[in-house]
Amino acid sequence: MPKTRSDVVVIGAGINGASSAFQLASRGLRVTVLERDSAPAMGSTGKSAAGVRVQFTTAPNIRLSLYSLPAYREFADRYGHDIGYKDIGYLLLVPHARWSRHLESVELQQSLGAPVEVFAPEDARRFIDFDTEGLAGATYGPWDGVIDPHMVTHAWVAMGKGLGVDYRMNRRVTAIERSGSGWEVSCGTERYSCGHIVNVAGAWSGEVGRLAGLDVPVGPKRIQIFMSAPITDTRTYPLTIDLATGVYVRSEGDRVLFGLDNLTQPFGFTEGVDEEWLEHVLLTGVGRFPWWEELGIDLRRSWWGYYGVSPDNSPIIGFHPDAQGWIDACGFSGHGIMHAPATGVAVAELVANGRTSTVDVDHFRHGRFGGDVAVEANIF
Ligand SMILES: Cc1cc2nc3c(=O)[nH]c(=O)nc-3n(C[C@H](O)[C@H](O)[C@H](O)COP(=O)(O)OP(=O)(O)OC[C@H]3O[C@@H](n4cnc5c(N)ncnc54)[C@H](O)[C@@H]3O)c2cc1C
Repeated sequence: MPKTRSDVVVIGAGINGASSAFQLASRGLRVTVLERDSAPAMGSTGKSAAGVRVQFTTAPNIRLSLYSLPAYREFADRYGHDIGYKDIGYLLLVPHARWSRHLESVELQQSLGAPVEVFAPEDARRFIDFDTEGLAGATYGPWDGVIDPHMVTHAWVAMGKGLGVDYRMNRRVTAIERSGSGWEVSCGTERYSCGHIVNVAGAWSGEVGRLAGLDVPVGPKRIQIFMSAPITDTRTYPLTIDLATGVYVRSEGDRVLFGLDNLTQPFGFTEGVDEEWLEHVLLTGVGRFPWWEELGIDLRRSWWGYYGVSPDNSPIIGFHPDAQGWIDACGFSGHGIMHAPATGVAVAELVANGRTSTVDVDHFRHGRFGGDVAVEANIF
């Protein structure tokens, strides 16, 4: 088989692969994207809750959001593609025990330029009904909201193709070897040679690293989202998270979607919607949202997918220390949708210039684990 040559092979056509490929091609690089599935956005990207927010506790994460949210807000005007951005907001309900630290992070968000508003619990009930018991306050991000991850991925794919990106679907990467100063990537009998590899294989990024004998500490964790039957309240609920329990809920059309991260679930490619977990989520959430007593559930519309998680639940974005020309952008936990614009730019600058100038991703480097690095507290 003849080899296909390019400057960069991107492994994975999720939202971060599509964003990276577009940014790489915008810098004049020849890019091939290899995707195992038959279409883009069929991995975690197609399974997300689609939320975007600035309300993080560490400056590096806030900065990724401060680059990415305006990019989403301006996407339609700038590129002519509707990406389904809706500024429905994120509303965080904060218990007394977390309030003073939470306010410190709000101060940080505001000092960096993020619009975040603080409410007394009673006043926040204008957004959604909840029991104020045990809450010190609530914070609301008016830029926060949702996008449509399929629409934005397909927009980047179309724009990348317009710049010459070669998208190959149904191509599972099966082997990766060093070839001179570059790489040779195999999909069965097909061979692709390149100078740089970008590993954006989501929850499968650890597996992709192992194909090249590299340790990429990212693995899968199942996350479930439950859907209600239609409800009667006509308000659009922001993505509301009860920080006392971790339960979250937001409007999805005339229904709500809701969930809770299962902290005891072992890592791995566990499949399916678990009804016992649904019961636990309902029992936990009904204390904060008493109207859940009457909530009808639509199990057929509920779903599950995988977070790709790193040891500290924040992404790895940067060169692999043991392999020249290998860049990882993975381990995003629940933030890979919201940070995809910044990730694409960072990846492209690393390949093109060897360092980033638009967004600082040093905080997300390989090798930070176990070191003296501030750990993000707002991981949902
Ligand atoms: C239930 C749920 C809710 C979420 N909610 C949010 C949210 O509200 N906001 C948010 O920002 N994030 C959220 N996330 C996380 C978000 O979905 C992910 O972080 C994001 O989609 C990761 O995108 P990605 O492009 O990096 O990976 P993916 O979308 O997983 O893409 C990786 C691609 O790599 C391909 N691949 C894997 N192995 C190979 C191989 N060997 N060869 C070729 N291709 C390969 C896969 O097929 C896949 O298409 C949620 C995730 C889940 C599961």
